[in-house]
Amino acid sequence: MSFIVAIDGPAGAGKGTITKLVGQKLGLVNIDTGATFRCVALNMIQEHIDITEEEKIREMLNKMNIEMHPDGKIFLNGEEVTKRIRENDVNKFVSPISVLSIVRNKLLEVQRKIAEGKNVIMEGRDIGTVVFPNADVKIYLDATPEERARRRVIQNQEKGIECSYEEVLAGIKDRDKRDSTRKIAPLKKAEDAIYVDSTNLSVEQVVEKIIEIIKEVTKKKS
Ligand code: C5P
Repeated sequence: MSFIVAIDGPAGAGKGTITKLVGQKLGLVNIDTGATFRCVALNMIQEHIDITEEEKIREMLNKMNIEMHPDGKIFLNGEEVTKRIRENDVNKFVSPISVLSIVRNKLLEVQRKIAEGKNVIMEGRDIGTVVFPNADVKIYLDATPEERARRRVIQNQEKGIECSYEEVLAGIKDRDKRDSTRKIAPLKKAEDAIYVDSTNLSVEQVVEKIIEIIKEVTKKKS
């Protein structure tokens, strides 16, 4: 039996950082599902496949191999792509390809398989609503678009990726809109998820709050 904590929310809400830290503190395996969508987007860019070419996408997905190593490194078809999947061309392409049912169905399988038999903390957009609707704990992590853009710029600078605040903010707003209005598995808070607004909280405060929620929900259920 696995224990599952689902963390959903928009781009830049802090899911990546928070999930990693909470996972380390509670001994849960950390799974970033956004990275799996990013790998599909990158693979399509590499193979020059257009969003309308369903048969080519199907073939590509059948051969595609994504590995997520415990040290956080991500490999696509044997090549390390940890940094590459955060670049601008992938940022722009990932949201449009994530509306495709063929992509979502394949990644649903991949994501459930990665979690099999493990105690995990999984972050994404539809974890509490679609991937694991029976997750033990569900959290919806949010922040204002401006704060999220500010954090993304700092994060990119640390990774050596050049970008401007305006460009990042526009990208975030665009992705929010696409992710929350798409027909399949849109970004939305699960009814039974606990809402956490991180706009005015430090990383440590959010981590503390989420650990408290996980402990409380688990205590109530046992
Ligand atoms: O979390 P991250 O910003 O890396 O996710 C990249 C994109 O992947 C999102 O904007 C969204 O379009 C898609 N995604 C998704 N469902 C998930 C995780 C990510 O549709 N569970």
